[in-house]
Amino acid sequence: MTETLTRDSPVRFLKGVGPARAARLLRLGVQTIEDLLYLFPRRYENRGVAAPLASLQAGSFSSAVANVLAIERKPTRKRNLSLVTALLSDGSSLAQAVWFNRKGLEKVLLPGSKASFFGKVDRRGGFLQFTNPEFEIIAEEDGPPGQMTIVPVYPGTEGIYQKWLRRLVSETIGSFPEDLTDPLPAFISEAKGLTPLKTAISQMHFPTGREEWARARKRLAFEELFLLQVALAIRKQGYMEDTEGKPLTWKGPLMERFLSEVLPFSMTASQERVLGELARDSSGNVPMNRLLQGDVGSGKTVVALIFLLAAVDSGFQGAIMAPTEILARQHHRRLTDWLSALGVTVHLLVGSLSISRREKILEEIASGEPCIVVGTHALIQKTVRFGSLAAVVVDEQHRFGVLQRGALAGKGDHPHVLVMTATPIPRTLTLSVFGDLAFSVIDELPPGRISTVTRHLNDPDDPRLMKFIARETARGGRVYWVCPVIEESEKLPLMPVIRRHEILAERFPGEKVGILHGQIPPEEREATMEAFASGDISILVSTTVVEVGLDVREATVMVVEDAHRFGLSQLHQLRGRVGRGSSAGSCFLVGRPGTDEGRARIQAMCSSSDGFRIAEKDLILRGPGEICGVRQHGITDFRVADLVKDRRLLEEAREDAFSLVRSDPSLSGFPDLRREVFRRLGAKLRLAGTA
Ligand code: ADP
Ligand code: MG
Repeated sequence: MTETLTRDSPVRFLKGVGPARAARLLRLGVQTIEDLLYLFPRRYENRGVAAPLASLQAGSFSSAVANVLAIERKPTRKRNLSLVTALLSDGSSLAQAVWFNRKGLEKVLLPGSKASFFGKVDRRGGFLQFTNPEFEIIAEEDGPPGQMTIVPVYPGTEGIYQKWLRRLVSETIGSFPEDLTDPLPAFISEAKGLTPLKTAISQMHFPTGREEWARARKRLAFEELFLLQVALAIRKQGYMEDTEGKPLTWKGPLMERFLSEVLPFSMTASQERVLGELARDSSGNVPMNRLLQGDVGSGKTVVALIFLLAAVDSGFQGAIMAPTEILARQHHRRLTDWLSALGVTVHLLVGSLSISRREKILEEIASGEPCIVVGTHALIQKTVRFGSLAAVVVDEQHRFGVLQRGALAGKGDHPHVLVMTATPIPRTLTLSVFGDLAFSVIDELPPGRISTVTRHLNDPDDPRLMKFIARETARGGRVYWVCPVIEESEKLPLMPVIRRHEILAERFPGEKVGILHGQIPPEEREATMEAFASGDISILVSTTVVEVGLDVREATVMVVEDAHRFGLSQLHQLRGRVGRGSSAGSCFLVGRPGTDEGRARIQAMCSSSDGFRIAEKDLILRGPGEICGVRQHGITDFRVADLVKDRRLLEEAREDAFSLVRSDPSLSGFPDLRREVFRRLGAKLRLAGTA
């Protein structure tokens, strides 16, 4: 290896890596030397103390080192399927390994060779059997066991041999690229007793023991979490230094009249508290940046409305962006109902407006006339210009990416920003994805709500369910019936919306059964929603277009078909559509889950109505990418850190990072840290300034 290799040098520059191998490494996501250093093993084999075959437990995933006594290929009764069987021995016992359709295997794994095997172990007719195990031939020149007893096993790809990759990594570690510097401030590493970076990387690949490995992992995880928190702290610092916001008054005439004459209920203590936080943050000239979390039905909309009203009272404009047109229209309707008496203009800006209507609205918005604008993504299009935008709300923010939330704020000149989510987010994720925002929580529901009972049924035609629906509709209740797809397909044997709509219409001839999905034109969708809200339609069959935010107080029954197909947070959102008035809601999760995970999700829903508990569970079952649309911006694409396992570490990293940035906002004393933060996160988080 030459002296000039850097972290960003392509692996092609390494000895023994030609174009073909470089292409294969790319399939493992390895392009640069740094990628290679951070391609950590999937698992390790302890060859020093390989378990004797005789000790393996049927049903477990195990590894063992054994000699191949014989190996043969046999055709099976099925065409195109052949079976390779090897007889193994390690002196303690005999065992058998079988593979299906592995071309040429018997020419590689020859009788007399010694290999390590890893895979599922079963007991077949008194014989231990590995089924489709991974294996690796151990040659005599690999040296006696003990020389390298813990062996890394990397993610596999065709044409890359474990042994070769192991050697490549080991050589690269032998002379680390010069620019691989440790970004952690020394005083933090010392205080925490963290392993130095290079040692940690070596130990991840070739651990000398369990303890050393654990320390290495902890150090690398801490570094990742710490760098992210430093980036978030810098962003937050940026907001605080920004003194060009427009102070809002919270004691204007519109606000006063709204609270005393229009608002039909009194606020919950939580809502009051949050309003206090918003008023405090937005009445100065530092722009507010706040995340409001509140479970479905906790009453976030009215809080947002009052915030927007403060902007209008102060002579500015306010805008609220919703993820779907249905929801935007519902907000528009509700705001218009509440505000028309006060003479406040509420515009609706969505994709389906006619051109002339749209032009007219755009003109009014550009004029700077105080008003409220409700819309979808249409709000952040280039042609939309606000004359005096001072308050921005992003509703159901998990449906938007970080950059989209920024895009709406970018329409104004340092507006105050309120981001709302009804998908409760586990704290670890909140701190990672929204760590630059201040947090507010509405943690109670308006009085009088009765919690929704959730049940699981196997069969959608269950007579008990039919009877229940008949009874509910007879007494004026309304029913949502959600299906996962629109049209029938061969791949997914799921009940499609259209078919279910026909079945229910036939089954309940006395009721009007509506249908709603993404392929229905917006005006028709709107009319259907209105008919459902007014009670003209009493059973609404739909896709998940009803998932977020819809508020029909008379809706009491939610049926989710093939419920195991949905994520937990999504099921929680769907369930949140019912029981919003004073009558109890019922939720039926229908279907036969085919996997343990599917069963676990349904079980979690039936046993908990607490959105935060459910979100934590979702994080464990599905990982961060699936919840809150986090995947889009890759902030939580950690190489080592794990938001479930490393919660404590995250809290520590956050504390250290924020206190460091507080004491040295430009990180002038920590150039290596500053460079690394910008290198990894500058673009993702749109950090201002350069390294
Ligand atoms: P979410 O937080 O899910 O967006 P909404 O804002 O849609 O919830 O509120 C749910 C329902 O509760 C709405 O019909 C709303 O008018 C009503 N609501 C909100 N706050 C209160 C309150 N303090 N007392 C009674 N009803 C309320
Ligand atoms: Mg809402």
